[in-house]
Order: sequence, then structure tokens, then C-alpha cells
Amino acid sequence: YLYSPLLFAIGSASTLLYSPPATRHSLPPPFPPMSSRKKLIAGNWKMNGNRVEATRIAAGLARKLTDADRPLPRITLCPSFPYLGLVHDLLENTAIKIGAQNCSEYLEGSYTGEASAKQIKDIGCAHVILGHSERRSHFKETNANIKAKAAVALKEKLIPIICIGETLAQKEAGQTITAILSQLRESLPKDIRAEQFLIAYEPVWAIGSGSTPTCEEIEHVHGAIRQELGKIVSPAGITPILYGGSVSPANAKEIMKIQNVNGVLVGGASLKLDEFWDIIQSSDE
Ligand code: PEP
Repeated sequence: YLYSPLLFAIGSASTLLYSPPATRHSLPPPFPPMSSRKKLIAGNWKMNGNRVEATRIAAGLARKLTDADRPLPRITLCPSFPYLGLVHDLLENTAIKIGAQNCSEYLEGSYTGEASAKQIKDIGCAHVILGHSERRSHFKETNANIKAKAAVALKEKLIPIICIGETLAQKEAGQTITAILSQLRESLPKDIRAEQFLIAYEPVWAIGSGSTPTCEEIEHVHGAIRQELGKIVSPAGITPILYGGSVSPANAKEIMKIQNVNGVLVGGASLKLDEFWDIIQSSDE
């Protein structure tokens, strides 16, 4: 996850050579897609599953990975807290990473029911999903909470996957870009570096609904995120931007071809081994 100087050099050289294609969008992405970088496929199991299911999916993925005869994308699985240790142990000798779905904004101490970034790191997580819309809506998490959580995650060298996305009402009012860019600006800790985090663009109305934005809409939003990242971190082209919301074997290939889509965050389909594996295989990197 820490990109080598060589990749930086390749990235910078290709930025110089890159001229954005003419599109109807007013926000052309300022950076080329990082086609040399592997995509990331993240599975968010939410509060689903049990011991048997978690074992079946994690062990099944490990087996499929061993049998795979072509390069695969980076993969991370985010089970709920009780199964992190189990899934970690099942995947220990594989390239699949694990992540938590949340962490406390506090470092440690008397916060009953919370799990700290330090503990999450300690049991072997590489990632932590922060600011998922279900946490924003059900648990009233604000951008300020997410920023505080991201800051403690970074302190523990956990890579936050920071989720942003517009509601249906915001989309219908033509406020998609304004909404997601203010979430982006307000959720990132000061002094965060480009290689330390990922963004997941997840339209709230697309999560679990079977509906997705059009490819043009995804491209437009990801381009706008990339451009905004350019004002915050450098080089902004190396921060992966995932798309999430009703990703399935039927649409994953098309979505992952979109410019500035560096992977996908998958909810429902990550609980079905064959569907998740199909999505993993849809990535051509
Ligand atoms: C999610 O909850 O992060 C998600 C993308 O869910 P789904 O794939 O089920 O829409």
C-alpha cells in the first residue's frame, strides 16, 4: 500500500503526457487513471453472518485464490468485529487483507462497547471502513466524528476507507457534487497524505437497492473527487477511489473500466462466495 518511488515516477511522467479526453463534463479529471496499479475489491459484510458462514466464505476465497491462474486485484474482507480474528486466521497466509467496519474516535480507556484503532490494528487489520452511510444515518456520525476516527486510524497505520455519498434527495436537487465534496473536505484529517487512505464513493440511494448511477455519472463524480483531492493531497492521483452501491457480477466489469474508479466496495454480493469471486475476476488488473 505504500507506493514505491518508481511508481511515483511513472505516475508523474504519465501525468505530464496525459491530455484529458474531451467529454461533456465540466470537471475533467486532472490525473490519468492509474492503470499500472491494481484495483482493490473490498467486501463489507455489515452485521451479517455467523461463524459457519464467515468460515465458508473466507476459506472458500483462500482456496479460489490458490487455484487462480491469473493475476488478481487486491482484496480486503471486512467482517463484523466478532469474526475479525477468525477471518484473519483463515486468511493469514494469503494475499487477502482484512478490515474493520468502524473504529472508535478515542484512543483507549473507559468507552464501553467501542473498539479502538489500536486494537483493530493489533488483531491484524489493514483497513477500516469509516463514515459508511449506515453509520452516518443510524448512528448520527458526522464528518467531524469521521475525521477524528480517521486521525486515530492513521496514527495506528490503519488505512481508512472513507465513505462519501449523496442521498436521493440531494441527487434530485442537483446537489450531488456539492454534497460529496463537502463530506470529503470535512472528513479528512489535516496533514493526511495521499497514500494513507482510500475514498469510497457510495451513493446512499444505490446501497442495497439494485440501482446504480450511470457510468457517466460515476465518471463525473469520481473525476470531481479526484480534482478536489488535488487541492488536499499530493500527488492526488495515487489515492484510490472506490465505487460502492449495488455492485454485482453483472455490472462490476463495466464499473471498473470507468476512469478514476480504482476498485469497488461490495456489500450484499460479498456475502455470496461465487458472486464475490465473479466480481474479483471482473477486474482486469
Ligand atoms: C455497502 O454497504 O457498502 C454496499 C456497497 O452495499 P451493496 O453492495 O449491498 O449495495
